[in-house]
Amino acid sequence: MQADIGLIGLAVMGQNLVLNMSDHGYTVAVFNRTVEKVDRFVEGPAKGHDTILPTRSVAEFVAALKRPRRIMLMVKAGAVVDSFIDMLLPHLQTGDIIIDGGNSHYPDSTRRTRDLAEKGILFIGTGVSGGEEGARRGPSIMPGGNPEAWPAVKPIFQGIAAKTPDGTPCCDWVGKDGAGHYVKMVHNGIEYGDMQLISEAYFLMKHVLGLSNQEMHKIFDDWNTTELDSFLVEITRDILGYKEPDGTYLLDKIMDAAGQKGTGKWTGINALDAGIPVTLIIEAVLARSLSALKDERVQASKLLQGPEHRFDGDTTGFVEDIRKALLASKIVSYAQGYMLIRQASEENNWDIDYGAVAMMWREGCIIRSAFLGNIKEAYDRNPQLPNLLQDEYFRELIHSSQDGWRRVVAQAALSGVPVPTMATALSFYDGYRSERLSANMIQAQRDYFGAHTYERTDKPRGEFFHTNWTGSG
Ligand code: NAP
Repeated sequence: MQADIGLIGLAVMGQNLVLNMSDHGYTVAVFNRTVEKVDRFVEGPAKGHDTILPTRSVAEFVAALKRPRRIMLMVKAGAVVDSFIDMLLPHLQTGDIIIDGGNSHYPDSTRRTRDLAEKGILFIGTGVSGGEEGARRGPSIMPGGNPEAWPAVKPIFQGIAAKTPDGTPCCDWVGKDGAGHYVKMVHNGIEYGDMQLISEAYFLMKHVLGLSNQEMHKIFDDWNTTELDSFLVEITRDILGYKEPDGTYLLDKIMDAAGQKGTGKWTGINALDAGIPVTLIIEAVLARSLSALKDERVQASKLLQGPEHRFDGDTTGFVEDIRKALLASKIVSYAQGYMLIRQASEENNWDIDYGAVAMMWREGCIIRSAFLGNIKEAYDRNPQLPNLLQDEYFRELIHSSQDGWRRVVAQAALSGVPVPTMATALSFYDGYRSERLSANMIQAQRDYFGAHTYERTDKPRGEFFHTNWTGSG
């Protein structure tokens, strides 16, 4: 029996993808650096799956595959991917396909696509999201790389991927070179933003309104039936309700110092390099960095005073304001994420279908939500939409949410409760909708101290002026 596809890397993601492929009728050859894990897998989780073929060397693995060979790597991102590619190459033939499904940085995928194309090998760099459960039951898959490889991989990937409510697979070709891993990177950045926004909503309810975990559990349950219907709101509800065997809430005992693995940071760095104002994701990454300064914060909390202000308004009304602040900020976050994808697509000629990206994220991944269906509809209405904020549906939602959103940011400032992403989203919104900003002052200052010149509003764009501001010299 020859395998339809082979997978190297039998850690949690790899094992679950293999089981998923096997469930969908594919024969899968498997290999792992630590060979004992191959045996443990076939004797354990894969027991009874006759279409999973264990192999114990790279040569045996490659020989087990149908041609053109389809080889998926689910190994640690970085140098490990290159070393497996080097090990595989002597065994491969023209037209064989290597797929990297790890969390690789997109420039590496661009490099690998091009280097391998020169050797006659087709490469796909694909984002896979949804964690362990997604990999097993249906992940979101975001493939990019060499388009010639896609027809041979498409049936398998679309077969195992999550499906939207109308049956569309959450997997489609994103674009050439590193486009797939780029979109996965932005997905992870958006995930940082969504998580931070939700944590701010929780913190406001806890510290401004003094609500209990049980009350917040109910509120998040209610919110999950609104435009906020999403996986992250759902798990937040569950987390708020989770009690330890002694009846106390686990959440209250979890250290408030957030970790990060780096893909949010990559999104922020990329946004800064490209000059795209992705303020919310960057703020979300930095909010984790601030949280991680736990010891210093404990010390500062004894030295630095905040306001004495107490909230004395209507609790139910303010909970609804918080929901609106969360919704409006989320719209801004996705609008910013799409600004980034759009500029990368245009700069690299990736020709990304923005509505299709929304469908890839609609199910199977951490940011899955009903909201992504609305984004798809916005791009269906106007594929050339310059910004999601300009779409009629999102415009209307922001307009009906903004009073509550502004009250929340103002109240947070008065109460001394940090809401970095809700506040930055509001500032972005007010900046984006402003015909005139304060940048005339910046240009004047730059010209004053550095003769950097400025354009004038009463002259055509592109004409530059300099003033001797002090009249001296
Ligand atoms: P992982 O811990 O990132 O990687 C473990 C795999 O990489 C094992 O097969 C391991 O082999 C191999 N490996 C590590 N160092 C190696 C080396 N120096 N040489 C050869 N092989 C080496 O596993 P994972 O969590 O399943 O993730 C796999 C990939 O998917 C990663 O890129 C990850 O970022 C990405 N991803 C993970 C998730 C998730 O939720 N975990 C979600 C999406 C994407 P040994 O068994 O021999 O050590």
